[in-house]
Amino acid sequence: MTAPGDAEFGFELVTCRWAERAWPPDRETDAVPVVARQLGTQRRRWDTVVVEADPDALAARAAFGADTLDSDLLHIVRNAPAEWAWYRDALPDPGYPWRYVRAAIHRAADRGVVEKRRDGNRIQIRQIAPYPDWVRRIVAIENKPDLDASAARALADQLDHDVSTALADEVWVATEATGAAVEPALLEDLPVEAGVLALEFDGDGVADDTVAWHPASLDPTTDTSLSAEEKAEKRLEIAERAYGSGWRSYVETMRPDCRWFELREVHDAFVPWCAAKETHPTAAECSGSCPEFQPEPPAWRTRGWPIEGGPGKGIKRLLARRRRDRR
Ligand code: SF4
Repeated sequence: MTAPGDAEFGFELVTCRWAERAWPPDRETDAVPVVARQLGTQRRRWDTVVVEADPDALAARAAFGADTLDSDLLHIVRNAPAEWAWYRDALPDPGYPWRYVRAAIHRAADRGVVEKRRDGNRIQIRQIAPYPDWVRRIVAIENKPDLDASAARALADQLDHDVSTALADEVWVATEATGAAVEPALLEDLPVEAGVLALEFDGDGVADDTVAWHPASLDPTTDTSLSAEEKAEKRLEIAERAYGSGWRSYVETMRPDCRWFELREVHDAFVPWCAAKETHPTAAECSGSCPEFQPEPPAWRTRGWPIEGGPGKGIKRLLARRRRDRR
């Protein structure tokens, strides 16, 4: 059985669901996988990101709330002292004007991730808890359900970039198992450092995963086109975005408020289905510019409306609940 639809998007969602349950495919670990999609840097966006988290430290991260801490908030929570102190004494020089730091302190205090008080005209801060070191490894996965020769060649440059930058600890290509072994010729087109994973589907989900090629461990602590210090910052920002968004947040950029939008459970993942086009729509086509879009009829909203909303809001709540349960 194949992945849902022809869309890479459907394959991507099923891969995310599988990773959430089964990562890693090639070794034993007590790490908890935090899975997200479409994250990376300005230069390079990965299809699927798996953050391997330390279980105890991940539990401690929950004290800072379910949402992403952006770089400004991270600067505060990572450096906030255990005892009250003037923020300029407590925090390292940010390299930009202190007024931006003050704004971030107010935002952090509003979110409850740091404590603040006034001492005369000085703002003092204190940590709510030490920010935990919860990220062990970051894994980047490219999803290519049809990994043929031209797809492998098209991927090669991107994967070469990932390997040479070493922002992630490992880079993989996930493809759909065809029954035949992955062609050695395909592997020749991909950098040897990239792993290749073949996923096989049945009616209940991913029935089997086969590592067709083991990846090399990259070293993010070395200087490459990015310095080791820059990479450490970016890695934590990516991990925080993964923590805050998960992989089910796709629904926020699609149109669950369209009357044709459905979620179908396919291979143990909820995958969008468009009843008008009878296909699994991609995030790009299921948008405000879709010519088939029709708002859900007001009658669908009667139960609890407008506070509870109609099916569109119900779908968002369902996915948000799954995201919370997962954390
Ligand atoms: S008609 Fe367009 S907007 Fe509505 S569900 Fe289908 S793809 Fe999405």
